[in-house]
Amino acid sequence: MRFDTVIIGGGLSSLVCGIKLQKAGERCLIISAGQNALHFSSGTFGLLGRLPDGSEVSEPMKSLSFLPEAHPYSKIGVDKMTEYVAGVPDFFESCGVRLHPSPRSGELGMPVNGYRVTPMGSFKPGWLAMDEVTLLQSKDDISWSRALIVNFSGFLDFNAGFIAEGLSRRGVECRVEAVTIADVENLRRNPTEMRSIGIARVMGKESNWKEFGSKVRELVKGEDLVILPEVFGLGDPVIIQWLREMIPAEVMFVGTMPPSVPGIRTQMRLKKSFEAAGGTFLQGDTAVDPLVENGRVISVHTVNLGKLSLSADNFVLASGHLFGKGLEATPSKVYEPVFGLDTDFPSDRKAWCDEDFFAPQGYDGYGVVCDELFRPSIEGRMIENLYVVGSEVGGCNSLYEGSGAGVAIMTAMSVADSILAGR
Ligand SMILES: Cc1cc2nc3c(=O)[nH]c(=O)nc-3n(C[C@H](O)[C@H](O)[C@H](O)COP(=O)(O)OP(=O)(O)OC[C@H]3O[C@@H](n4cnc5c(N)ncnc54)[C@H](O)[C@@H]3O)c2cc1C
Repeated sequence: MRFDTVIIGGGLSSLVCGIKLQKAGERCLIISAGQNALHFSSGTFGLLGRLPDGSEVSEPMKSLSFLPEAHPYSKIGVDKMTEYVAGVPDFFESCGVRLHPSPRSGELGMPVNGYRVTPMGSFKPGWLAMDEVTLLQSKDDISWSRALIVNFSGFLDFNAGFIAEGLSRRGVECRVEAVTIADVENLRRNPTEMRSIGIARVMGKESNWKEFGSKVRELVKGEDLVILPEVFGLGDPVIIQWLREMIPAEVMFVGTMPPSVPGIRTQMRLKKSFEAAGGTFLQGDTAVDPLVENGRVISVHTVNLGKLSLSADNFVLASGHLFGKGLEATPSKVYEPVFGLDTDFPSDRKAWCDEDFFAPQGYDGYGVVCDELFRPSIEGRMIENLYVVGSEVGGCNSLYEGSGAGVAIMTAMSVADSILAGR
């Protein structure tokens, strides 16, 4: 089978690249092995929260010049970064995903990091947030005096106690309550069903979210903030708005243990948008056994399609970092398993990780070596029609920098433009 572009991986970077290409008239195939980082998303996209030297970033665009040359943002350059960053909210809106910036971004007309409340009750920076996530102006933007935190009875993946502890330290008086809903109680018979996604499915039923909203309304005793778990609006985020309207206090949704409901909704909508534009999404299949000749990829195969080869003019590798199995590690090397691309990691094994669990980990920053157009190499020879996007690209430690979604989206947009420019 022949396509214009074959994209390997089904996460954020793959979908953004695929949608952009498909909407520009390319025939694209996405091969997706399994779950991706969106299923674990915090509900916010990070652009740049911290520089490699550890200094905090408030306005990401102003800090681009401090990034090393090998960083993906430096390769894209300030002009293109400015264009892509400005276009992100509209791009996602056109795919049915609404993203909002921190309040200060609107005022200044450029990205300013806001802060979300984490499931641990701490504050983390973010660039754009999905519907249910509240982005505060700053870490000190605490305007509430009393908070009511409501969980579902028996739901262990939302720790109201941690959130209460975190907010109490900031002077907010917290009260924790639990609500019982019959359909959610039914999930408790099977412990694997009593997860965020199981509850989100049940809460998609109008009678259930209305009953939940009414019960929460009755529990409010003068609190100015109500905190709920992020388990609403999986199919339609309008439920989030309705709950905000029916509860007599400011309503904030806070993340649960994975899977992430806002992340899954985003993934589903992006996939739908890609398919609606005419793209082919091969779910639950793994790209293997590529044919590379004279510095060009001719075709790849997949586990399920066996001998049927998938050929294309261009190939995009979006198979993630160690987490997505886009990179793999042995005790002596970090390698890219599909093509055997050149990767960048220190030979001193001791440098790979820090024994302090909370310290930045070296291995988070290893990736595929790419040129300015994100083309990789095999044993030093550049592959002309293969591009790498997302967390697999070397040159940055996205987890440490808080630049995960930003790198995924920016590299995807840049590579899509390079492919289109070659037409
Ligand atoms: C647990 C976790 C949570 C994160 N949360 C956030 C967050 O809240 N905000 C943020 O900004 N960033 C976050 N990040 C950073 C994250 O890396 C990016 O935001 C981004 O989503 C990464 O997208 P990606 O497309 O590069 O890779 P991934 O999302 O990892 O997707 C890679 C995909 O490739 C597939 N794949 C692998 N090998 C093959 C193969 N051979 N054939 C076919 N498919 C294959 C995998 O199954 C997977 O579906 C998080 C990262 C992790 C690991």
